[in-house]
Amino acid sequence: MTEPDAIVVGGGHNGLACAAYLAKSGFKPLVLEKRGVIGGAAVTEEPWPGFKVSSLSYVQSLMPPRIIRELEMPKRGYKVYPMGPYFMNFPDGSGVVMYEDHDRRYAEMARFSKHDADVYDDFVAWKDGLAEVVRHLLWMTPPKLGSRSLPDLLDQLRFAWKLRGLGGRGVADLTRIMTMSAADLLDDWFESDRIKVGLSIDSIIGTWAGPCEPGTAYVLLHHEIGTVDDDEATGAIGSWGYVEGGMGAVSTNLAAAVQEYGGEVRLNAPVSRILVDGGRAVGVVLESGEEIRADLVIANAHPEITFLRLIERDELPAEFVRDIQNYDSRSGTVKINLAISELPNFRSNPGTNLQAHHTGAIELAHSIDYLQHGFEDARQGRGSDKPYCDGVIASTLDPTIAPEGMHIFSMFAQWVPHEWHAQPHREEVEAFADRVIDGYNELAPNLRSSIVHRQVISPYDMEHEYGVIGGNIFHGQLTLNQLFHMRPAAGYANYRTPIKGLYQCGSSTHPGGGVTGLPGRNAAREILKDRRKRKIA
Ligand SMILES: Cc1cc2nc3c(=O)[nH]c(=O)nc-3n(C[C@H](O)[C@H](O)[C@H](O)COP(=O)(O)OP(=O)(O)OC[C@H]3O[C@@H](n4cnc5c(N)ncnc54)[C@H](O)[C@@H]3O)c2cc1C
Repeated sequence: MTEPDAIVVGGGHNGLACAAYLAKSGFKPLVLEKRGVIGGAAVTEEPWPGFKVSSLSYVQSLMPPRIIRELEMPKRGYKVYPMGPYFMNFPDGSGVVMYEDHDRRYAEMARFSKHDADVYDDFVAWKDGLAEVVRHLLWMTPPKLGSRSLPDLLDQLRFAWKLRGLGGRGVADLTRIMTMSAADLLDDWFESDRIKVGLSIDSIIGTWAGPCEPGTAYVLLHHEIGTVDDDEATGAIGSWGYVEGGMGAVSTNLAAAVQEYGGEVRLNAPVSRILVDGGRAVGVVLESGEEIRADLVIANAHPEITFLRLIERDELPAEFVRDIQNYDSRSGTVKINLAISELPNFRSNPGTNLQAHHTGAIELAHSIDYLQHGFEDARQGRGSDKPYCDGVIASTLDPTIAPEGMHIFSMFAQWVPHEWHAQPHREEVEAFADRVIDGYNELAPNLRSSIVHRQVISPYDMEHEYGVIGGNIFHGQLTLNQLFHMRPAAGYANYRTPIKGLYQCGSSTHPGGGVTGLPGRNAAREILKDRRKRKIA
């Protein structure tokens, strides 16, 4: 390849999306990925022959159809199998399957509470209404709130204009959802704890907080991103699903796009330093000592890596360094991937033959109190004895990832102490994984004996192998103090940094984590804007 005119540090899906947009606009970007596999947290690996495992992220829902279309992903084989219903089941042998079909779902819910079955549609419509407002913000570059420069004031006005549709009631509802706990919000609507626990799940996924903590209601809304499409409706909007070939297929697709549009992707290319000269980025040095020059560098890695490890402190304002040091990436998530020889035979919904509840999200979450207890355990320094887990068996719909007759049970479990990212805690993490499996085994007694292979990925592994600092799946908590104009630091939420020519495009920028491609797309737009103005910020 000719000399790159842009270097992207990190081959996560956002780095790849950013590079693909830049390449499509005439740049010759070079993506440098530390690992030997592309994709960061959106990766497929083969820990056992014949099994393609989505090591970390496991379901697709958040990537807007517009990005899929703009980067022509379907022509490179991108395919999503819409996943089945949420499935809550309990130790007393009862269960509820949240079928897509209205009447079947109503009947399931009404077994626990007729009132809850009656209000469910109104709740979903209310949430969708709020999500509609948030959706418009996702594509925006956050304004520098508080700045008095004329361009920044204009940005603030544009932001206010975007919110014009909210009205008094909408502002109140948005304030509520941004600040309330998921438990309190659900109490306002529902009466059955079993219905409430099912609906609270999205509020705690990846979050260092139980459902009773203020701010968790917003995380519910974050999971609505997948319905984003701001120019025209396309198929399968908002549906959650399994990407054929595992989540790494998103990343390999985007890597192919980068190459097709004229860029390059290099694996096993860890960057050890971002070169800065006179306050401007001028290139990078690899761990091998190789130096690559370009006047545009884009950081896809977590901000702790970019700003506290790859750049000398004295190149950055002290206040900014402090903000990055204080950026909260606590978590407490463990990923468990199992190869199983038969489908779980749930006491509430018997049978090892493939049924709808096997194809959706299989929850280990008995009640709101159970979840809160799980978090409190970890806050007090113990791997929880009541683990929460979101499980999926993607191989029920995607035949390409497991040998015939076998399945992959992907378990996303919480909580272990957030401090466990710093040390392996191997025995305790394995014991925690045992408790997760025991929890499912209580619901489906054939599970344990069906396990053929087992992989346990701890917060330590996430940080040290995958660059997911703190093991936080979103590259930083999605709390109000770290959203929008504060993400990752006040004054630098517009994808620019204190160093000219250095931009950021990872999940630590607006609108945050998930396999969305949005930070990558938004960053590319800002870079192109600066280039058009003939300045690289
Ligand atoms: C366990 C887990 C489960 C999740 N589940 C889901 C899910 O089901 N659905 C969903 O939508 N989202 C999920 N997420 C979140 C989602 O996967 C992430 O938010 C997203 O993939 C992050 O993408 P990114 O490109 O911003 O960063 P990353 O994917 O973290 O990419 C950053 C890249 O930078 C590389 N890097 C780091 N340092 C260097 C260096 N010095 N030199 C070169 N390269 C470097 C890393 O190796 C990595 O590839 C999950 C995340 C985790 C961890």
